[in-house]
Amino acid sequence: VVRVSILKFVDSPGASFEFQKMTGEKRGKGGTILWKAALALIGAGLIGFGGWFYLQAALRAQAEAFEAAVSEYVAAVHKIERGFVESLPIYQDYATAAKEAKLREFLLADHLDAARRFGVSPVADEASLGELTAAGSLVAVENTAETGFYFYNVPGRFRYLTPGAAAGLNSIADRLQRVLAEKEAVRRQRAARNQNESGDGAPNGNSSAAAASNLPVVKFAVSSMLRPTGYQARLRGRNANASLVSSHSQGVSFDLFYDEFYVQLADAAGPGAAAVQETLRRRLGYLMGAALRRQFRAALTETLLQLQEEGLIYVILEKRQRCYHVTVLR
Ligand SMILES: [Zn+2]
Repeated sequence: VVRVSILKFVDSPGASFEFQKMTGEKRGKGGTILWKAALALIGAGLIGFGGWFYLQAALRAQAEAFEAAVSEYVAAVHKIERGFVESLPIYQDYATAAKEAKLREFLLADHLDAARRFGVSPVADEASLGELTAAGSLVAVENTAETGFYFYNVPGRFRYLTPGAAAGLNSIADRLQRVLAEKEAVRRQRAARNQNESGDGAPNGNSSAAAASNLPVVKFAVSSMLRPTGYQARLRGRNANASLVSSHSQGVSFDLFYDEFYVQLADAAGPGAAAVQETLRRRLGYLMGAALRRQFRAALTETLLQLQEEGLIYVILEKRQRCYHVTVLR
């Protein structure tokens, strides 16, 4: 751009005169003007080259820092993944017939009974949903960085539960992290024992395999929440009737999709961190959640069975919809 504009200036009619006036020269010879223009071009060229060279060096340094940050991050993520793989069984190995039977112990009638005891009366439409929310009988459930779950195809206008069921959902999220931490602790002890027995590695479990791997939060997917009877009827193209009343209409139930999870990986540090954040963190979080879905499903199932045993929830395994239908007894 600089070169073109100088050439244009020199070539244009009356350029000599203008240039002369600007530089305060009295001699009006075109040769001098051109010579000065040539010097200016060379100067601009040198400055341009210096700038380009500097920029290239800076870009190279930036690219190297980014590359280093990415490989460091990927290595850390890989370590976390190995930790999960070594500490959790896959669902198919975990789920014995006895365990799956427990997931069919409390069926629809029990859930409807719980809904009568703990839920609101069946929500017909969005107008009554608004009234119940205003009265505090139903509360909005939000998905933030702090919540241990995320929404999977749940319309924003139906993300409501009774206060008790909302608290129950958070209890499931908290318990899942505890179950994961306990399995991880067992893995660490095992690694430490193996290393002590084989005599290699550092004593007392201070080696890398036995070290705590700083577990990230694993989030599960909520695939259904409040379902007003009118909405369910529209979905099925029928009139609302009693058979469509489910505990989902009463604010005490939600479905947990068991085929997808999200691992909330830590923020990257150092140079290039922002770029790592943008390009990798979320993507890797979903990829790891998908890759380890069988392991995480085992941990989620263990969580739900514990809480059902403690009397907080009823769970039904719904194989066709690939989810757990959960009703909170609170
Ligand atoms: Zn359900």
